[in-house]
Parts: sequence; C-alpha cells; structure tokens
Amino acid sequence: MNQPRQRATRPRAQPPAGELALEGIAASPGIAIGHAHLHVPGEIQVAERQLRAVEVAPEVERFRAAVARALQQVARLRAKGSRLPAAAAEEIGFLLDAHVQMLSGSRLVRGVEARIADGLVNAEAAVQQETSAIARSFAAMDDAYLAARAQDVRDVGERLLRCLTRARLRAFSDLPEGTVVLAADVTPADTALMDPGRVAAFACEAGGMEGHTAIVARSLGLPAVLGVAGLVDAASPGDRVVVDGSAGRVVLRPTAATLAGYERRRMEFRRGERQLRRIARLPAVTRDGVAIGLQANLESPRDAEAARLHGADGVGLLRSEFMFMNRDDVPGEDEQYEALARVVRALEGRPATIRTLDVGGEKLASALGPRFAPGPNPALSLRAIRLGLREPGLLETQLSAILRAGAHGPVRILLPMISHLHEVQEVRAILGRVQRRLLRRGVAMADPAPPLGAMIEVPAAALAADGLARACDFFAIGTNDLTMYALAIDRADEQVAHLYNPLHPAVLRLIQFTTEAALRNRIPVSLCGEIAGDPRYTALLLGLGIRDLSMAPLKIPRVKGRVRAIDLAAAAEAARAIMAQHDPVRIASMLDAFNAPA
Ligand code: PEP
Ligand code: MG
Repeated sequence: MNQPRQRATRPRAQPPAGELALEGIAASPGIAIGHAHLHVPGEIQVAERQLRAVEVAPEVERFRAAVARALQQVARLRAKGSRLPAAAAEEIGFLLDAHVQMLSGSRLVRGVEARIADGLVNAEAAVQQETSAIARSFAAMDDAYLAARAQDVRDVGERLLRCLTRARLRAFSDLPEGTVVLAADVTPADTALMDPGRVAAFACEAGGMEGHTAIVARSLGLPAVLGVAGLVDAASPGDRVVVDGSAGRVVLRPTAATLAGYERRRMEFRRGERQLRRIARLPAVTRDGVAIGLQANLESPRDAEAARLHGADGVGLLRSEFMFMNRDDVPGEDEQYEALARVVRALEGRPATIRTLDVGGEKLASALGPRFAPGPNPALSLRAIRLGLREPGLLETQLSAILRAGAHGPVRILLPMISHLHEVQEVRAILGRVQRRLLRRGVAMADPAPPLGAMIEVPAAALAADGLARACDFFAIGTNDLTMYALAIDRADEQVAHLYNPLHPAVLRLIQFTTEAALRNRIPVSLCGEIAGDPRYTALLLGLGIRDLSMAPLKIPRVKGRVRAIDLAAAAEAARAIMAQHDPVRIASMLDAFNAPA
C-alpha cells in the first residue's frame, strides 16, 4: 500500500554530539538562535480493507462527512490566515482556495469515491491511493509549479486522512517563545500556523526557494533554511540551534565562540533591518522638495515582496522572461495570467510595468525551440519585439495575459528593443484585436486599456525618440543595451568589458535626447538599466531630467538616501557642465566631485 507521504515518521539514528553545521537553501533571511523543537508529523496508520458490496454506500457517506469536516477546517484556517500580514494572508488565501477546490467535487474526490465503489477498498486506502496517483502525475511533469501542486494534493490527502481517522492536528501554539522548529518537511499551512512571537525560525529537509513555504516564511519575516539534508537525524529535542536564513546554514549545538559570532551577526542584521525600514517609510524627495519615483525591476514574481519591503513605488520593469526560461514548452495564456496577476495583486494598487518577452541575443529560451536558433550575430538578430512580431501568436498570448492581469490593478505594457515606429504601431493594432477578443469572451481585463510604452535601448530609437514619443504612452530607457549598442560592446564579453562605460558622452547624449523628447511630448520617461540602482549616477540622471528610476529592490534604500541628499538645481547645473565634456574620464571625475560630501 502507498505511504501517505514520504515525510512520515522514520526511525531516528543516534544524533552525533558537538557542533555541527549543515548547509541548505537560504529561503528567508535573518538569524535566529533558540532551542530545537523536532516537529515529527504523526504517522497516520492506515490499513487497507476490502469492502463487501453492502458496505460501499456507508463508506462513501463516511468519506463525504470527512470531506465536509476538512472543508470546515480549511475555512477556519482561512479566517486565521486573513489576520496575517497582507502578503502572507494573500499567499495562504491562494493556497487554501486550491485546497477548497480539491475538496469540492474535483478529480480527487471523484477518484476516491470511484476507488471505494469499484475497487471495494476502505476510504482511507482510497484517499492514499488517489492522492499518490495524482501527486505522482504532477511530479512527473518536471515543472516546479506543478511539483508544488503535487505537494498541495498530498496536504489535502493528509487532511482527509486525519478527518477520517480523527487524528489530532499538529499545532505550534504551545511552544515556548524563541523555539526553532526543525522538521523533515514543513507545509505552507504549517508555516501559517507559526506565531512569530513563539517560533523564532525553522529549518527542514524538504522544500525549495520557489515553494509556498518559503514565500510565507519570507512574508512573515521568519528566518528559514530549507533543503537541509540529514537535519532531523542530526538534531535532538532541546538542542541549542542557530538558523542563518541569510546564508542558508543551520548550526546545531554551537560552541560558545560560534554562538558569540552569530549573536553579533544577529544584532547587525537587526540594525540593518531597522535602517532599511526607516528609509523605506521616508519619501524619495530631493532637498529642494522634488518627488522622485523609485520603482523596482522584478526578475520573477518572487521579488514583489522585496519590492514592497524596500518601499518601491511600483514596478518599472517586470522581465517576463522568467516564465519562459528553463523549460521545454511555452507557457499558455492562463499560466502567464496567473503569474502576472499574482504580481499585480501583490503591488496593492501600485503600477506594474510588464515587459513582453525579451529573448534572443544572449537570452535564449530553450522553450522556443530550434526554430529560433541565434543568427550569425545574435545581438542584432531576431530578438525581443522582432521575435514577437514574427510570432504574433506568442505576442497575442502574452498581451492577453497582461490585459487580464490588469483586471487586478494598474498595469503598463512595455515593448523591448523597439527600433522602428511601425513596430509600436503593429503592436498597438494587435493589442486592439486581443482586447476585442477578450471583450467578446466576456473576460475581465484592464479598463481603460493599459499604457503602451517602448524600451529605448537601441541608439536608433533614442535618436528617433521624437517620432516614437507620439506613438508611445511612455518610455523606459534601458541603458544596459543602449550602452552596448552605442559603443558596439557586447555587455557579456569580458574581453571588452573595460570599454563598456555608460558615462561615455555618446550614451549620455542618447539618454538626454530621449528624456527631452519625452518631456517635450509630455509622456512619462523612466530609466531601468543597472545605473538606475547605482547612487553614483543618481544626481546626473536627475540633472538630465529623469524623475523615475527603476532598479533591483535591494538597491532602492541606498538610491533613496542619495536622492534625499541631492539639491536638484545643483544637480541640473552639474549635468549641464558634464554634458559639455567629451572625455569619459573627466566626466567621471566631475561626477565624483559632485557626489563627494561637502
Ligand atoms: C536594459 O537593456 O537596460 C534593460 C533594462 O533591459 P535588459 O537588461 O533586460 O536587457
Ligand atoms: Mg535591454
């Protein structure tokens, strides 16, 4: 018979004595020192029993009563979850919605009933067999998202078994303050039950960075290390333990010297957090009172929480490539919509600028298959919007997903690597078609239509910015590629890396020209290349007229600190002087002189 789950109780080896450091995945940052609570889920002993025909109907009834009880439990958990911080509440909400769906006449419920009726097995055995079969088929799909769904199925199966056998639910509420929970596995629902006032941190053998458990831990601010091989066998209840969620390390039974080191690092971490929190709440306003927008660049939906934490005004660039990388197929509209809607909802009304697929060149997604093999010069080949217009099906699916995500909050659509006016016009026509189709289908979508903008990252686009500004609703300047294409330097080639310099007057003039064209045509312009997150450039970019900068979330506090120290009138004056220079070395030294504290 199948085991209910792999993490069931197993015989424990004698734990070793003395300090032991174990490595795992740094799933949620922070350092905690406490005493170990070994969380061993009670194994549910289930025997398989053959039913007689007359027993089938009562057994199905018994199973349905267990389903009803499980639904009640989930409703209670939901009410409890709604009192958590917003991001955690939302995450738990999604998870429990999935559990409710599985308990409501789904394949799982129908499958269990069929096994009882046709296979003549008791309800417990039928639940075990059916959940294992579904979970196995998900896990076999070799997709991180679906693998996580397999865990959901197992969780629901375990809940049903508990309801059938009336086994007690595990709780963390009676743990002493400062407990560190160590386990073979911690489910997201377990995590939601952890009271940060009692549980200082947790670590477990299972889990990955993408899982709900890690996400909930991060949003609760609970340090966590996942994927720690051998953890349970190495620990004893009550052991002193350090969980370093920033480095992904668990130290069991630390020596006095190790402990002292971690005490110091814990203080430093807390001090850093306090400083970050203080600056995240302060406005990004220059000394002479001009508000600057600081947005986040997101590589994946996971970063949305960091964006919020670091006080981002929204997302200036969501690189949608994450949905296409490391897989052998192309995500469908629903999958893209789900991922994007999650980000939009997490931003709680702040705008999300979603860039359409930017692959090709150095960013090849295997999902698109061999028909998009790179040309002789990939950086100048079928990249980004060129690919989208060559494969309108791909682009339409993405635009449709973005429009639908826009039903949950403000979105903007950003087109990568625009070099011709007609590219924007073609996308606008496609966007209109996609909108009409959604309207006919009665699907909820962004209303009014989201702004459509262009990345200005090709010198031709910068020099033709006046014309493009009339066709676009906004610009986002991509200095990473703009520098590469202006200077003919491959941004990923270390042999010419010393020549890659955004302070080259050619690059600065392209930024200036684009900014002025946007301002003349009264459309918003932001800058989302790497220099946006480097405080060294802040004064120059503000001096050139940029008022919105988008960067990796972690960089926001430092740039905000710099913004608050800048006098905009003086920065504009410095920018004027710099723009009169021809030598990048001289430009750099003028900038450094301006940045130096008085
Ligand atoms: C850029 O080119 O500056 C940019 C932000 O886009 P990416 O780095 O994704 O090419
Ligand atoms: Mg780019």
